[in-house]
Amino acid sequence: MNMRWNLDKLYTSFECDEIKNDFQLVEQLINKATNFVNENFTSTDNAKEKLQKYIELNITLEELVDRLYSYGYLAYSVDTKNDVALKQMEKVESYIPKITIIEVKFKKWISELNNIDELINSSELLKEHEFVIRNHKAKAKYLLSDKEEELIAQMQNTGSNAWAKLQDSVTSSLLVEYEDEKLPLTVIRNYAYDESPEKRKKAYEAELKAYKKIDKSSAACLNGIKGEVITIAKKRGYESPLEMTLVDSRMDKKTLDAMMTAIKEYLPYFHKYLQKKAQMVGHENGLPFYDLFAPVGKVNMKYTFEEAKDFIVSNFTSFSEKLGSFANHAFENNWIDAEPREGKIGGAYCSNLHVIKESRIMANFSGSLNDVTTLAHELGHGYHGDCLKEQTSFNSHYPMPIAETASIFCETIVMNAALKNATDEEALVILETDIMGSNQTIVDIYSRYLFETELFERRKHSSVSVDELKEIMTNAQKEAYGDGLNHNFLHPYMWACKPHYYYFDANFYNFPYAFGLLFAKGLYAKYLELGDDFLPKYDELLAATGKNNVKDVLAIMAIDSHDVNFWKSSLEIIKEDIEKFLAL
Ligand SMILES: [Zn+2]
Repeated sequence: MNMRWNLDKLYTSFECDEIKNDFQLVEQLINKATNFVNENFTSTDNAKEKLQKYIELNITLEELVDRLYSYGYLAYSVDTKNDVALKQMEKVESYIPKITIIEVKFKKWISELNNIDELINSSELLKEHEFVIRNHKAKAKYLLSDKEEELIAQMQNTGSNAWAKLQDSVTSSLLVEYEDEKLPLTVIRNYAYDESPEKRKKAYEAELKAYKKIDKSSAACLNGIKGEVITIAKKRGYESPLEMTLVDSRMDKKTLDAMMTAIKEYLPYFHKYLQKKAQMVGHENGLPFYDLFAPVGKVNMKYTFEEAKDFIVSNFTSFSEKLGSFANHAFENNWIDAEPREGKIGGAYCSNLHVIKESRIMANFSGSLNDVTTLAHELGHGYHGDCLKEQTSFNSHYPMPIAETASIFCETIVMNAALKNATDEEALVILETDIMGSNQTIVDIYSRYLFETELFERRKHSSVSVDELKEIMTNAQKEAYGDGLNHNFLHPYMWACKPHYYYFDANFYNFPYAFGLLFAKGLYAKYLELGDDFLPKYDELLAATGKNNVKDVLAIMAIDSHDVNFWKSSLEIIKEDIEKFLAL
């Protein structure tokens, strides 16, 4: 089976005439849009025509920019030595400040309209985009003057964005001394999954030691980025960086609080799991951090790519014909680049290419059960994109907390199927793998949330030193992991290792994972309750994610996001798995 993707639907090569033409077209469109906003957004006369015209322009421009950028990024991600691909990405990035200004002018103009209801009701196109229009209007109060907005966009390239790039290059070039070798951080961190207890422990010690080489520069990056975020959030009139994140995520504080309250209440069950795992791996006072991912059980399930395909497609199909045939289509039409080879980036991702109504999936498939669930996860993202393909691009931007729902849902389908067909020995391994994943998504994510909250608090007053960062991190881990972890073996440098803290335009990129897991579990429970009636509702929900706030997306499935009990019922499913595991 072909394990490489085909990108011809985007472009046939970097030299093709279509790319040259599209670059010319983008530049023309940016000029056209700039002239349009400058000429038309000075008064609110003929608002309906102006608004319609702007939305059409925005859609055309965005699709073109997306096509050019995606082609560069996709090619780069499977061949990081491809300088032509990198140049193409950079060329597209250079348009962003100009596009930002166009959007700022639009959002400000929208805020001046006082007959918005009448306007929306007067046009089908505007009605279709009602949520996005109203959302922009509501958020306009956080915009600064055109000059300030332009300055911020430009300064971020040399400020937070540059800090983020520095952190990226510092960690990706860090070599860890391990026995007689010097190994990249990604390789060393992967030893956490190794069968050998000595190897796991040694790798952890080597990893912690290596951070000393980069801790001061990482701390400088973190202080630079978070300092800038605090300044900008305050200038824009947000109460806090968290409020800014929530507004951007179209999520209210009540939803976050309900979820966090439920998580806190269920932490002790995870602690029990960790203690049990500690015993199984041979420890007395809780699990040391380096054994969090230690394999449990002897069986080693292996899949060929073909087998992975059959397994995923048949189990997706038993959930829904539509999901099954979507996955089959993706495998059969070379949407997936799964072959591990030199020069490819690590991990996996799915890119939903709205412009061609298709997706492409990048993975590094080596045949483990984890690789199979990763494929299922990414296909879930692709299915989300498929449900959105009839929406305009203006209507298909879903917020951060919803992003991991369809993907984790598909993982759940495959995990449950694997469990059903497993021998007792295999079942233990599958169950443990699943709980270990949930433990990361709930307990570790909770510790990251505590860390980031405290970091912002201290950064308000002054920069935060390496020692303080380590202390905040270990305190957060103690609180989240409780006696599940051995407090003498924590990971004080997680802030240097996880890239999420350095995303300059997305703060608190931790709770969305917990949200995705718990929402997906809740949806799966709805599926068990409703059977086939669930399917059209599920598609409807995914199609609506770009034009609703988070609370209303959940309401489509009759779920109240403010209700602590909903979040508890999802955690209850994990708790039952933990109890099953403890009994095995
Ligand atoms: Zn994902």
